[in-house]
Amino acid sequence: MAVPQNRVTRSRRDMRRSHDALVAGNPQECSNCGELKRPHHVCPSCGHYDSKEIVATVKAAEDEDAA
Ligand SMILES: [Zn+2]
Repeated sequence: MAVPQNRVTRSRRDMRRSHDALVAGNPQECSNCGELKRPHHVCPSCGHYDSKEIVATVKAAEDEDAA
């Protein structure tokens, strides 16, 4: 098994990891509710995509029960 020839110091290890942080990419406003959502994904807060309801959310189901 390959074994590292030299110890990587905390400093060098942490400098390497300075680029590892994840970033939220390009959020866009939902056209239905205005929440920020990922482009080309169903809105997680209202369940709409392309101005149509795709996924029924808990809140929307409760509204339908009331009506
Ligand atoms: Zn929405």
